[in-house]
Amino acid sequence: MSILVTGGTGFIGSHTAIELLEKGEEIVIVDNLCNSKIEMCDKIKEISGKDFKFYKVDLLDRENLEKVFKENDITEVIHFAGLKAVGESCEKPIEYYHNNITGTLVLVDLMRKYKCKNIVFSSSATVYGKPKELPIKEDFPLSTTNPYGTTKLMIEQILTDIHKSDDEWNVIILRYFNPIGAHESGEIGENPNGIPNNIMPYINYVAADKLDHLNVFGNDYDTPDGTGVRDYIHVVDLALGHLKAIDKIRKMNGQVEIYNLGTGQGYSVLELVQNFEKANGIKIKYEIAERRPGDIAACYADPSKAKNELGWVATRNLEQMCRDSWRYTEKNLK
Ligand code: NAD
Ligand code: UDP
Repeated sequence: MSILVTGGTGFIGSHTAIELLEKGEEIVIVDNLCNSKIEMCDKIKEISGKDFKFYKVDLLDRENLEKVFKENDITEVIHFAGLKAVGESCEKPIEYYHNNITGTLVLVDLMRKYKCKNIVFSSSATVYGKPKELPIKEDFPLSTTNPYGTTKLMIEQILTDIHKSDDEWNVIILRYFNPIGAHESGEIGENPNGIPNNIMPYINYVAADKLDHLNVFGNDYDTPDGTGVRDYIHVVDLALGHLKAIDKIRKMNGQVEIYNLGTGQGYSVLELVQNFEKANGIKIKYEIAERRPGDIAACYADPSKAKNELGWVATRNLEQMCRDSWRYTEKNLK
């Protein structure tokens, strides 16, 4: 009996794989390595001290994906695999819809064929669009502003419809807020290609003198200091949320459940910068710039459903997230 982890060599998948292995779960990882490296497999094995099977397979490649189901007794799937860059999704909508949606359809079709009807899916707070109020609860209205977000919303709908057609399916949708940080070993973390779009890798590049300064996108938002507020969550806390989701799905009896995974606490861009400086003793040069199109003022979770039903809470604070991010970057960014 194994858990199939799609996208398991990626940022969140690799951290989750380690926690699953350390807990004693058997896992199989499938990844096409379009946004991760094969070396990650050795790192996961080294850190966890456990072995697992890896298949370099694209979810769109039904024939080879089927081999994974034939050769292993897959009982649950944690589905991380997908393309995730918002800007790129606007330039390449066909690639994003094909990869994320078709990839998921091939996966769930094989799950049905091999009678594995338990799936945990990586969704995002982006599906809440511009929230009507804060903090955000799972039953808030949903909307999206870019193809990436729309793939998340469509997959949520697809999984819900599959459950409606066959109530043996158990579906857990996890809506992540802003994952940052890295494993405390400093061995694995976030490694974006090119100039980072997201704030934490960007701050790290400035700290490493790879970029001159951070552009703070807007200081005239309706927030305490005018800069954007987000719910940053340590990637290891997020990974642990998946272990709780697996515990829960094993007890479910034909259900769809949705959980916000966030800390419930919002921090502004300037607060994030201050925490990074304090945690690492490095000054971060920044300049106030124009607002970034499509950004919202503030976004943070009400994580109480995950606390009450999964028994999960995030425990790592912002300083720890900043310390762990920098430890990884310092070690790995040459
Ligand atoms: P990531 O890019 O590091 O990991 C995704 C992995 O999926 C990569 O290793 C990539 O090679 C693989 N992949 C992509 N398409 C594939 C395909 N067709 N077949 C096989 N493998 C494929 O991203 P991440 O940050 O670890 O995100 C994991 C999931 O969480 C994604 O679905 C993402 O949309 C979602 N998510 C991420 C964030 C975030 O800020 N990182 C926030 C909300 C939701
Ligand atoms: N941000 C910023 N400068 C950057 C990148 C991001 O000021 O170079 C801000 C952005 O406007 C938002 C917050 O940082 O308020 C988080 O942005 P990120 O892209 O990391 O995540 P998002 O919440 O957009 O998914």
